[in-house]
Amino acid sequence: PEAFHIESAIQTAVSRLQGLYAERGIQFELAFQEHEGDVIGDAGKINQVLNNYLSNAVFFLNEHKRIRIETRITGNRLRVSVFNTGPHIPEEEMELIWTSFYKVDKARTRGEGGTGLGLSIVQRIMDLHEMGYGAANADGGVTFWFELPLAGEES
Ligand code: ADP
Repeated sequence: PEAFHIESAIQTAVSRLQGLYAERGIQFELAFQEHEGDVIGDAGKINQVLNNYLSNAVFFLNEHKRIRIETRITGNRLRVSVFNTGPHIPEEEMELIWTSFYKVDKARTRGEGGTGLGLSIVQRIMDLHEMGYGAANADGGVTFWFELPLAGEES
């Protein structure tokens, strides 16, 4: 684990998809809460989490085509949330989506393109960090989130 600048990591992950946003007319928003300092984590692995969330957000995006990444400080934690407009996840599937190879509803899987592994990798990475993560249905779409400790704060 190391201290790193989460906003830069997000910017980098996002900029790799910039071409896609333009091509598909995706409305992309970033909303960073201002704060001092870095977060603590394995930057490479957190990058994987961001990429998994983002690629799912693009895949499940509906015709409203909005993706929003937000950071928010609560106490000594920073929460990163990725929202996309798209179908809700049935409440009874909320736990199961984190399990390897879980694909039930054909309408909401990536078919051939999907491995069903992305979120199980996220789960493993966040468990290694002993940090929270989750998914929730939101107005018009879904939000996937994870948390990291802020550097220099008592946990
Ligand atoms: P896959 O390779 O199938 O996308 P994931 O582990 O990334 O595998 O996701 C598991 C399942 O979680 C998906 O098949 C889908 O049902 C659900 N899911 C993941 N991200 C989203 C999202 N942004 N919107 C709706 N459902 C999602």
